[in-house]
Amino acid sequence: MRIPFNKPYVTGNEFQYIREALEAGHASGDGAFTHKCHELLERLTGTRKALLTTSCTHALEMAALLLNIGPGDEVIVPSFTFVSTVNAFVLRGAIPVFVDSRPDTLNLDESLLEGLITNLTRAIVAVHYAGVGCEMDLILDIASSHGIAVVEDNAHGFLGRYRGKQLGTLGCMAAQSFHETKNVTCGEGGALLINDPKYVERAEIIREKGTDRSRFFRGQVDKYTWVDVGSSYLPSDVLAAFLLAQLESVEEIQTKRKRIWNTYYAGLSEWADRMHVRLPFIPQYCDQPHHMFYMIVPSLEFRQALIGRLRERGILSVFHYLPLNRSAAGQRFGRPAVCPVAEDVSDRLVRLPFYTGLEEADQEAVIDAVQSFAGLGGRMYAS
Ligand SMILES: *Cc1c(COP(=O)(O)O)cnc(C)c1O
Repeated sequence: MRIPFNKPYVTGNEFQYIREALEAGHASGDGAFTHKCHELLERLTGTRKALLTTSCTHALEMAALLLNIGPGDEVIVPSFTFVSTVNAFVLRGAIPVFVDSRPDTLNLDESLLEGLITNLTRAIVAVHYAGVGCEMDLILDIASSHGIAVVEDNAHGFLGRYRGKQLGTLGCMAAQSFHETKNVTCGEGGALLINDPKYVERAEIIREKGTDRSRFFRGQVDKYTWVDVGSSYLPSDVLAAFLLAQLESVEEIQTKRKRIWNTYYAGLSEWADRMHVRLPFIPQYCDQPHHMFYMIVPSLEFRQALIGRLRERGILSVFHYLPLNRSAAGQRFGRPAVCPVAEDVSDRLVRLPFYTGLEEADQEAVIDAVQSFAGLGGRMYAS
C-alpha cells in the first residue's frame, strides 16, 4: 500500500539512547533508562507509581494478579475492546461479563452496569475508546458503592483527560500500551500505572518473577528470594531507551497527531453530513489524545465498498474490534450476552490511516479518496 494504516515514528534520540544503554552494560530490565521512563511517566500522568512492562497485555495480567482475581469471580468488560482486556482476567479463571457500548463515544455504557453487578463481581475494566474518557465519575461511584475495583485499559488514552483529570489515574490501576500502533511506542511495550499505593510493593514483586529483587537493588534487603507468585514482566533497558526518547518528544508527537486529526475532521465533515456518516464524538469535558480517526458509515456494504475504493488508490483503511461477546472464546468463557450497539457499530466502523509521520500530501490523498466515494447504488464508482 502506498499509504499504510500505521507507520512507526522515530523522534530522533532513539538510536543514541539505545547505544548508551548498551555501552552502560545494562541490557536487561530495570536499568537506568527504565528508571528514567518511570519518573517521566509519573511526572506526565501524575500517577503514584509507574512500572514498565513488556506490553499492555502484561500490565493487565499484573492488575488481575494484584486484585487476586480467581476462578468464578466476575469481571465486567466492554464487548467492544481488544482481547487482552478480557484475557488477562480469564487467565485467572474469571468469568467475563460483557457490557454494551454507548452509541456516542463507543465506551462502555455505564447505565447498564447496575444490572450486571452481582455479588461475584470483583472488577470493572474501563477502556477509553479512541482515548475519549469513559464516564468515570459515574463508573467510580457505582463501583465504590459495591466495593468493586476499577481498572483502566488506557492503551488509547495516554495523556487524555476526563473532566480535567488524567486518564490512567482514575482507577486503582491503569494499563498503558507502547505497541507500535499507539501514540508513543517502543515496538512492543507497556506500563502499569498504580494509583492506589497499597498495590505498589506487591506489583514490584509480581513483575520480578515473584521475588523481592527490587527491594534488594534498593539495598532494603541483603538478598532476594521467592516471596510470592509472579512472572517476568520487565522490558529490556534497550527498549526503555527507545521509549524514553519517545516520551521526551511526546509534545511533538501529540501536536502532529492533533493537526492530523483536525485536518481529517474539517476535511470530511461536509462529505460525512451528505453521506449520513458519523464522525467521532468528543464530549466537551474530554480532552482526547488524538489516537485514531474513525467514521461510522451507514452500512456494512458501504464500509466494504469504501475500504475497496481507498485500496484502489493505494490507501489502507481498516475496521476495528469484533464484539467479544460473539467471539468463540467470549462464548466459551463469558456469560451469554447481547450487545446490540457494539454488534452494530462493529460492522459500520472504519479507521483511516493515522500515524505521527503522516505527510500532508498523503493525508490530502486520503481525504480526496474518501470524498470521491459517493455511496452505494449505481453511483458507487462515480467520482
Ligand atoms: C493495543 C491494545 C491493547 C494491547 O496492547 P499490547 O501492548 O499490544 O499488549 C490492549 N487494550 C487495548 C484497548 C488496546 O488498544
